[in-house]
Order: sequence, then C-alpha cells, then structure tokens
Amino acid sequence: MTGEPEFNKAQGARYAYVTLVTNRDYVLGATALLRSLRRARSDADLVVLQTPGVDDEDLAALKTFEPRLGRCERLPTSDAFNERHERGRLHKAAPFSKGGKPVFHTPLDNFVKLRLWQLVEYERVVFIDADALVLQNCDRLFEFPEFCAAPNVYEGLADFHRLNSGVFTARPSETTFEQMLSRLDKPDVFWRRTDQTFLENYFPDWQGLPVFYNMLQYVWFNLPELWSWEQIHILHYQYEKPWQAGHEKADRLRPLIDLWQAFATGDGIPADTTRLKGPSEWAEQQAS
Ligand code: UDP
Ligand code: MN
Repeated sequence: MTGEPEFNKAQGARYAYVTLVTNRDYVLGATALLRSLRRARSDADLVVLQTPGVDDEDLAALKTFEPRLGRCERLPTSDAFNERHERGRLHKAAPFSKGGKPVFHTPLDNFVKLRLWQLVEYERVVFIDADALVLQNCDRLFEFPEFCAAPNVYEGLADFHRLNSGVFTARPSETTFEQMLSRLDKPDVFWRRTDQTFLENYFPDWQGLPVFYNMLQYVWFNLPELWSWEQIHILHYQYEKPWQAGHEKADRLRPLIDLWQAFATGDGIPADTTRLKGPSEWAEQQAS
C-alpha cells in the first residue's frame, strides 16, 4: 500500500494513542493534548499523524512529549470527492446550526484520520482529536473492541443516536483501510459530517463508550447535570476551540478554557481535576 505514514523511530509498543494535525492551529491543540497524555501516565506510544501542511518549526513544541510523528498525505480521493467536501460547499450543503467551526478547520482534512488503520505495527489504537484533553488515564480503552465511540451528546436525548468521532477504538489493518477507501469515495456520495458520518456508516454496530470518555464542552452549559469532573476522562472542545481568542461562547466556557490554557502552557495545571468546581458551583461563585 502506498502512502502509509512514515515514522521517525520505532519503539516496539503494541498500543498507541493517535492524533492528527494538518495545520499550525491543531498543533497547538496537540501540544495541550500530549502534555495531558504524558501526565496521565501511559505506556502506550503517542503518535501524531501530520500532513505536509505542518512545518517542522510548528512541530518543535510537540517534541518535548516525544511523540512518534507519522508523516502522511491526504487520502487519494477523487477531485469530485474533494470538491464536494470543500469547506465552503460543505458548510452550504450541511450548515452547522449548533455551534461555530473555526476558519482553520478544513473538512477534507478530517478524513486523514482513517490512515490510523495503516499503523499496522500497533495491535490496538485509540484515536483522540487534537482539540481534546486526557484528564485521567484511559488505558482501559485498549481492552475495548473495534469499533467503540461515545455518543455525540451535547444538547439532549436525540444526540444518543449518533457517535462522536473525536475519540474511538480501532485495530489497524490494511484490509480495513483499503475497504474504507473504496466505500468512502463513490460517485455523488456526500459525508455531511465527514469522517464522523463515514465511520457511523462503516460501523453500523458501533459500541458505546461512556460519555465521560468524550465529554463535549457544550455539556457544561446545555446539560450541566451530566457534568462530573470525577468521571471525565477525556474533555473535548468540539466546535469553537479554546485557543481562538474571545470566541462566541468564551464567556460561558471560561473555566474549561482556563483549564486548556494550563495544559497548553504547563502553568497552573490543577493537581487533581476530579475536584474542580462543576457548572452550578461555578455559576454560584460568579454570582457572589
Ligand atoms: N483536523 C486537522 N485539521 C483540520 C481539521 C481537522 O488537523 O483542518 C483534525 C484535528 O485532529 C481535529 C480533528 O481532525 O481535532 C477533527 O476536527 P475538529 O476537532 O475541529 O472537529 P470538531 O470536534 O469541532 O467536530
Ligand atoms: Mn474535535
């Protein structure tokens, strides 16, 4: 198979956490994610898939966390496929009505996630979006089968019908990868939420992870009863990113943004995130 990610060095681990960065903004995200992963103490490798859109200077900040860098190209999809999933066209055909997507988000780049199935030297991998933080060790996810993901919960009950592809468990396999490619790029097929819609379709029997393995930031203000710092293992900043200065929901997400900043800089990381104040305690404190 051509185009499999090229690695910087071999380490011999069987399990890996994998993330993806295709531009400088998501490298920022990955910096906080990798710091959080190292702090959560895992023996698994940390792999960062990167496309040529990222230059070595940008990656310098990640090196402290000793990831394996998997250099790869975008998927070899057809021009017609690429046009259908181009940012402007996708936003028009399938508008995002519930939250804002940053300008640096390129929908086509999401599909590069599928390359993790090419990481065949690993038996098992857990994929985590670059806009997430690991707050507690998640190694038990390596015991879960393919394919597990948490529900896309951030507003209400209807969200349980769908998965969120920011965190999932997988078993690399060239055969799976090849099959995925042939299913992905068919005439006129449009994946409205890119890799997420595709994975839901490819794994119709996907199994659910507890929501706490992919807690979406909007839960903080939409479903505060569900918030539990004690249980949250992975916190995911879907839609607006915590490094976007003064974004639309920044005031409502202040404590979560501050937490992300602490992981991004290494300054002021709480010793124990399980004891942080929840949404109602935080609101009370703001009011007093
Ligand atoms: N991604 C990337 N560049 C892009 C778009 C996405 O590197 O232009 C990667 C990155 O790992 C990111 C993930 O794909 O976290 C999914 O995109 P995002 O997290 O922005 O989507 P959301 O969680 O808001 O749906
Ligand atoms: Mn994300």
